[in-house]
Amino acid sequence: MKEKKEKSIEDLPGVGGTTAERLRELGYSDLMAIAVASPAELAEIEGISEGTAVKIITAARKEVDVGGFETGDIVMERRKEVGKVTTGAPVLNELMGGGFETQGITELFGEFGSGKTQLAHQLAVSVQLPKDKGGLEGEAVMIDTENTFRPERIVQMAKALGMDPDEALKKIRVGRAYNSHHQMLLAEKASEVAKEHPVRLLVVDSLTAHFRAEYVGRGALANRQQKINKHMHDLLRFAYLNNAVVVATNQVQANPALMFGDPTKPIGGHIVGHTATFRIYLRKSKGSKRIARLIDSPHLPEGEVVILLCEDGVRDA
Ligand code: ADP
Ligand code: MG
Repeated sequence: MKEKKEKSIEDLPGVGGTTAERLRELGYSDLMAIAVASPAELAEIEGISEGTAVKIITAARKEVDVGGFETGDIVMERRKEVGKVTTGAPVLNELMGGGFETQGITELFGEFGSGKTQLAHQLAVSVQLPKDKGGLEGEAVMIDTENTFRPERIVQMAKALGMDPDEALKKIRVGRAYNSHHQMLLAEKASEVAKEHPVRLLVVDSLTAHFRAEYVGRGALANRQQKINKHMHDLLRFAYLNNAVVVATNQVQANPALMFGDPTKPIGGHIVGHTATFRIYLRKSKGSKRIARLIDSPHLPEGEVVILLCEDGVRDA
């Protein structure tokens, strides 16, 4: 998925200055974003008819490689570069086939307090470790939508691993997203950061909170899912281009009335589930214990393990 040469969206037919500006505002800032958009999606933008949308998309597709077919050996070659980051809990690493994988999105979903944010903090520290210790000698970018990033936790977790806490903090860049649009913008900024720093982890915590709050009611649902879908694909692209781990959290309500329902099927969260490569359902157990269950993995068996949230971070129970 590499751009042939640096063309901008203004080079597309029918895209003048104002349209380009609108496209950028909505997150279609490069040719790839347009190439993978649907005509209906673009036609929703003021000043773009359905016909123009098709022309714009077709032209964008000629400029970028949106990915066709690859032979299995090429895919295998890229798979060989997949890196794994330790979660701090050997049982959870094992469940995940060695740790959280690069080139994919891992969705952490569960109710409030189930440990999604703690695990995200842990990974931001772990990713910095040398390879023989379960890291990728990398840096982290965290998109924080709920203001739950705590540098104090990073310090505790870094110390527990014998790392210099100040150094650890310097390798984590935190962006506070004020709304869903800003959140998507920050995901793009992450790509810029990754050009200058070895970013091997991108966290979006929470992926869904702003979208849920902003797109309310039945009428807004389709639009919301479309935006989340685009966001997820941006994240996946980040994961591929940077051989990075992407972690997205998704809060779901445990419904005590739903005794026979499947709590692992989050309401309205299907778009996220379809695009995520790995899905981990976290739920509370006794005290600081949490149960992590792997769901729908393309190549790993389902299973669940018990982990512990403690001052040092995430560990085996
Ligand atoms: P969420 O899934 O809502 O993001 P969190 O990841 O914030 O949940 O998990 C909150 C839990 O993390 C707390 O209930 C507590 O068990 C644990 N925790 C948070 N900070 C600490 C700490 N400093 N020491 C030990 N456990 C902690
Ligand atoms: Mg949280």
